[in-house]
Amino acid sequence: MADHILLLAGTLEARQIAGELARTYPEMRLTVSFAGVVLDLPGLGLPTRIGGFGGANGFADYLRTENVGLVIDATHPFAAQMSTNAVKACDINGIPLIRLERPAWAAAPGDNWQHVGSMADAAAALPAGARAFLAVGRKEVFRFTERADIYGLARMIEAPVAALPEHWDLVLARPPATADAEIDLLRAHAISHVVSKNSGGTRSYAKIEAARRLELPVIMIDRPNLPETITAPDKTTVLALVKTLLSQS
Ligand code: NAP
Repeated sequence: MADHILLLAGTLEARQIAGELARTYPEMRLTVSFAGVVLDLPGLGLPTRIGGFGGANGFADYLRTENVGLVIDATHPFAAQMSTNAVKACDINGIPLIRLERPAWAAAPGDNWQHVGSMADAAAALPAGARAFLAVGRKEVFRFTERADIYGLARMIEAPVAALPEHWDLVLARPPATADAEIDLLRAHAISHVVSKNSGGTRSYAKIEAARRLELPVIMIDRPNLPETITAPDKTTVLALVKTLLSQS
C-alpha cells in the first residue's frame, strides 16, 4: 500500500484521528482535507489541504496523482456528497476506504420527535406561527426562510450565504456544551420547535436534552443513505482498522 493516508476531515473525531495517526505512524505521509466551509480552523500542525476535489472523478485523479494508499472519511454524517464521492473514487483506484459513522441519536423517554427525511421536509413540518430553533448549516437555512409564516432563530458557525428575514435572529457560534445554556437560549426566544440533524455524538446533543426538559417537539432530520464501505462507529475502531490494513500491506 502506498504510504500516503488521506483523511477527510470536518468533525472533532477527524482532528483526534489525525493527531493519533501522526503520532503512531510518523514515517507515513498524512494529509488532512477540509471542505473549507468553516474558515476559523484551529491549526492542526499537520499537512492540510482545503476545498473540494471536483467531484468523484476529480477525487479519483487526486488520489492517483498524490499516490494515496488509504482514505479515511471522517466527515459529518450529513456530508453525503463527499462520502459518496469517496466510495466511487476509492473504487476507481482500488484503494481501501474507512468511513467513520458515529451512531445516530435515539429518542429517550420524554422526547417528542418527528422524523423527517430532508431539510425541505423539516421546513414543511413546522406549523404556521412556529418559533423554530434551527440548528442547520449556512447552506441549508434557506429551506426555512421560504416559510414567511414562521419565526426562526438560526445558529451556525459561519454566516449564511444569503441574508435571513429581518424578524429572525442569527447566532454565529458553535453549540454550547450544556443543556442549561441551550435552555436559556430557547427560553429567551420563546422557541416552540427545535429542528436538528441527527448528527449523533455528544458535541451538539445539548439542544436535544434541552428540548426534552422544556417538553418541546423536535423535528429530527434523519441521516442520508450512504453507499456501502468499511465503517467504524468511533475513532478507536477507525485506528484499529488502519492498523489492520497497514499490517496487511
Ligand atoms: P457535502 O455536501 O458532502 O460536500 C459538498 C462538497 O464539498 C463535496 O462534494 C466536496 O467537493 C466538498 N467537500 C466536503 N467535505 C470535504 C472535505 N473534507 N475535503 C474536501 N472537500 C470536501 O458536505 P458539506 O457541504 O460539507 O456539508 C453537508 C452537510 O454536512 C451540512 O449539513 C453541513 O452542516 C454538515 N457538515 C459537514 C461537515 C464536513 O465534514 N464536510 C462538517 C460539519 C457539518 P468536491 O465535490 O468538489 O470534491
